[in-house]
Amino acid sequence: MQEKLKEYARLIVEVGLNIQKGQDLVIACPVDCAYFARLCATAAYELGCREVIMNWNDDYITREKYLKASPEVFDHISPWVKALLNENAKAGSAFLHIRATDPENFKGVDPDRLLRNSKASVEIAEYRERAMSNFFPWCIVSIPIPSWAKKVFPEMSEGEAMEALWQKIFDAVRVADGGDAVSAWQEHLSKIKNRSARLNELHFKALHYTNSIGTDLTVELPENHIWMGGSEFDHKGVEFVANMPTEEVFTAPLKTGVNGTIVASMPLVNNGNVIEGFSMELKDGKIVSVKAEKGEEYLRKAIEVDEGAAYLGEVALVPYDSPIRLANVLFYNTLFDENASCHFAFGNAYPCIEGGQDMSKEQLIEAGLNQSLTHVDFMVGTSDLSIVGIKYDGTKVSVFESGMFVL
Ligand code: ZN
Ligand code: ZN
Repeated sequence: MQEKLKEYARLIVEVGLNIQKGQDLVIACPVDCAYFARLCATAAYELGCREVIMNWNDDYITREKYLKASPEVFDHISPWVKALLNENAKAGSAFLHIRATDPENFKGVDPDRLLRNSKASVEIAEYRERAMSNFFPWCIVSIPIPSWAKKVFPEMSEGEAMEALWQKIFDAVRVADGGDAVSAWQEHLSKIKNRSARLNELHFKALHYTNSIGTDLTVELPENHIWMGGSEFDHKGVEFVANMPTEEVFTAPLKTGVNGTIVASMPLVNNGNVIEGFSMELKDGKIVSVKAEKGEEYLRKAIEVDEGAAYLGEVALVPYDSPIRLANVLFYNTLFDENASCHFAFGNAYPCIEGGQDMSKEQLIEAGLNQSLTHVDFMVGTSDLSIVGIKYDGTKVSVFESGMFVL
């Protein structure tokens, strides 16, 4: 176990963040996972990291804050957090996010407080915009904690559930006994690169999604959109992997070019609340109505964060035989669940267009990309999902059949 943990930490720092000599690293981590942050810090220093800066958090205290703190607290970000994020972003520090949280940590929290807190993130725009445009390397990973493990495996004892979730995570991130995770990732990343290259060659005008649960949606793409996936490059040209695991190829939709019905194929865990059995109607890009069997109020608030929150910002393709889907569990964690299925996100678009990384917010809007303070992935892929690509001359090309890539 100790060896696998070390290998996972090494993989994150070497391939995920690709830490450079003299670079600072900011690690956000729950206090319960300190042992794993320590391994990551050691691995980073071994690669020549200048300083590891810790940004600790805790589910219990965060929940207490949302339940009991003064309401005005939620309209602002603490000055020190603002400085930590904005200043390190400007300096090009690496950011590691170790996510481990009870999926229902915010159950019963006033959705208005969550909404106000999301709106307050305008105060860390410097950080958010530089993250979205890959100015600095960043990586999101997860490790189990008991409350999360028990949610995924409710029938097991706490100890068994922790062990089972660790195993699922190691499988998902390709850390195996005596294996070489770094070279396994290099092979995996080149497979994803080939897939996005094929999509870029085809240069679709739109994609048409249909399946038996009721999704029937046409998604137009900006004219100079680019499909991306696997690894990305920061402003210095250093390659990094923003999410581990990652199975998707993705691009941005044309903000005002999405029409039809989307039926979610998996529950969405957003801001510590579970939203289940939901669907939405879109007209000229805008989500004009939503329905959910559970958590509808949280879904409504989530698309009200700002104007852009009610428009799509990501189109991501994941085959139905992805290792995360084959794991056959609901992780209640977007980092994993989004890699089990084709998905969209509402909210901000990554600058997936030619020259997008160097464009201002205004230029991105001009190019048809959505801008928002929020970005929430939700799953739509099913075993019978069909996606047809429509080219500028009207030619149709099958992209997905029965949930699988056919390109
Ligand atoms: Zn995604
Ligand atoms: Zn996303």
